[in-house]
Amino acid sequence: MKYVFGPVSSKRLGQSLGVDLLPPKSCTWNCIYCQLGKTRKFVAERQEFFPREEIFDEIRQALALNNSLDWITFVGSGETMLYKGIGWLVAEVKKLTNTPVAVITNGSLLSLPEVREELLQADAVLPSLNAGSETLHNQICQPASGLTFQQHVEGLVAFRSEYKGRLWIEVMLLGGINDTDAALNDLANVLAKINPDMVHLVLPTRPAPEQEIRLPSEERLEQAIAILSKVTVVVSPLKGNMDLRNAPDMLEAITAIVSRHPVQQRELQKAVADCFPGEAQKADEFLSGLFASGRFRLVEHNGEPYWVIQNEENNGFNC
Ligand code: SF4
Repeated sequence: MKYVFGPVSSKRLGQSLGVDLLPPKSCTWNCIYCQLGKTRKFVAERQEFFPREEIFDEIRQALALNNSLDWITFVGSGETMLYKGIGWLVAEVKKLTNTPVAVITNGSLLSLPEVREELLQADAVLPSLNAGSETLHNQICQPASGLTFQQHVEGLVAFRSEYKGRLWIEVMLLGGINDTDAALNDLANVLAKINPDMVHLVLPTRPAPEQEIRLPSEERLEQAIAILSKVTVVVSPLKGNMDLRNAPDMLEAITAIVSRHPVQQRELQKAVADCFPGEAQKADEFLSGLFASGRFRLVEHNGEPYWVIQNEENNGFNC
């Protein structure tokens, strides 16, 4: 499938079918922790990059194969809301199924009324907010010119006032960058204005090709939870895990997931082992055969090996 991947399993969204609406990498930001690598050319204009009917058709086919999904998640190889017509897709998917629909976005275009409008039917929207000050926002997210921190916050505030679904803000906590008390207090002040239903703290557990990014210490993570919990409900970071047991084609499922983000080798080993219960040797052989295919290579991040797609500059979506 070209647009649909998974289901992938995560603590935040359970079993989630991913829908990628963008050609890589199409983004309004150039985050220092981005798994897709550097944003070589900012995309600021919204477009229907691929025909919406074609995407919808794939979703329909995937839904026919998967009947135990917790979410259908729109996410992209870049900024999801650059896809013009996402509102139509959300509405059509909701006519087709009762499975709730989530949209993961960096939120940079929420100051535009038409973008907010396209999100109103989603059951959950997960925009990013990584800093409570302009300086830190610019340092971490490196937005395209013309996109300011103030606009970003105003967009989130406006969206909150119009949107009746679940607004779950994602905060990427970066060791030594936005995990100081001062940075966290600034962030808490801005979150209080936005009033999200929840904040999901996420960690840079996957490698970023452009820059070495550190995980926050446990003490800083606890302090972040303590400070942000004063203004909203905070979900502490939990690593996702992959479940391949219902995948119609394991090779295709693994390729689709790894081509969108690096996957920790341990997580992949466990997911494959779950598909061969009591047959550890068969699971090992399958994984060795997969690696020998030459489609993948290993990279190190925080001392852990990760699988990424061979010879591709971009290795995944992030936001
Ligand atoms: S992390 Fe997301 S918002 Fe940031 S540059 Fe990468 S794709 Fe864009």
